[in-house]
Amino acid sequence: MHWLVEWLRDALLWQLVPVVVVENVVLHVVAIGLGEVASRRFAHRRVSEPAPPTTRLELTIVCATLLMNSVTTLAAVLLWRHGIVRVRWDPTAWAVVDTFLLLLVMDGAMYALHRVAHLPWVYPWLHQPHHEYDKPRPLTLLILNPLENLAFGLLILVVLAAYPFHVVAVGVFFVFNIVSGIVGHLGVEPLPDWWVRTPVVMNVTGGSFHARHHQDVTANFGFYTIIWDRVFGTLRKDYASRFGRLPEESTAPRDSRPE
Ligand SMILES: [Zn+2]
Ligand SMILES: [Zn+2]
Repeated sequence: MHWLVEWLRDALLWQLVPVVVVENVVLHVVAIGLGEVASRRFAHRRVSEPAPPTTRLELTIVCATLLMNSVTTLAAVLLWRHGIVRVRWDPTAWAVVDTFLLLLVMDGAMYALHRVAHLPWVYPWLHQPHHEYDKPRPLTLLILNPLENLAFGLLILVVLAAYPFHVVAVGVFFVFNIVSGIVGHLGVEPLPDWWVRTPVVMNVTGGSFHARHHQDVTANFGFYTIIWDRVFGTLRKDYASRFGRLPEESTAPRDSRPE
């Protein structure tokens, strides 16, 4: 680990750029591959209709998204070098506290950002391309307008610059972020039915929650938890009763009127 930190601190830009791009590509290829395996494994628990064949346009957008993700990663490393983004290394219980803090802060901030993305004067040019895919698959996670991807990148950089989170918290957050994103776009529900009846864990999202957002763009705006949707009344009323099941009504996307 120590050698990696030293390398990140000392590497020249031309050495850093290809490593960051390859790291992003490998990470997402592995995550999407595992997501495809999970989609097949839990095919008996479909929460959205199967996605049509992948198009060349989708693959082009995915490449652009991976490049934008690499820009964010590179910016994080450079900001860390300049002392603007700081992380703590002390081996204390703060690692656990910081992990929950970072996940909760980002969950709330991303809920707010997602609500903004659905405002009528923002949605058509920023977020609608993601919603063209009402039958999500793992790859759909990366079908993003470069600007909304940039907004998410800026958000995480601002949060990381605002407070020196423990290095474990930052690592866990990035793993949880990609796992949660893939699970939300599986098109199947890998979690058991008792999940939505069990206190505490019932607030953590699975495959059903975000699939419903692709089918009904007026509800389910959260990412990691359903807490903010509960607070602001945007949780689908049938979320628990249709957990792990296809929606009863048509899966055609509705228009983007905010609540
Ligand atoms: Zn989505
Ligand atoms: Zn949305």
